[in-house]
Amino acid sequence: MTLKRCQECEREILGRTDKKYCSDMCRNNYNNRERSKEHQIVRQINCMLLRNRKILSRLLTSKVSKISRNKLMEQGFHFGYCTSTYTTRKGETYLFCYEYGFLELADGQFCLVKRAEQY
Ligand SMILES: [Zn+2]
Repeated sequence: MTLKRCQECEREILGRTDKKYCSDMCRNNYNNRERSKEHQIVRQINCMLLRNRKILSRLLTSKVSKISRNKLMEQGFHFGYCTSTYTTRKGETYLFCYEYGFLELADGQFCLVKRAEQY
């Protein structure tokens, strides 16, 4: 018979062999910690998305509708974090952070837009 140990405190588990934890307290501690790790990941990603949205919104409010990749990154923009895409009939794909979007142009600049229609 193999010895089973508690996933939380690593104490030997007595009794049923399908148990993962030695006690309810250990099970709760383990699950709470896992949940808070997950929440942290979600919070970090949400934060990146909101920051991207804020940057695009600020630029468009100050009438900037075309900007270079470097200028965007200087502002703290992270290209990997978007909420949706939109491909036009011409085959151009806009990336969106909520209602604000951008499209890479042939000259390497980015065209900024705000989506007006419903989702
Ligand atoms: Zn335990």
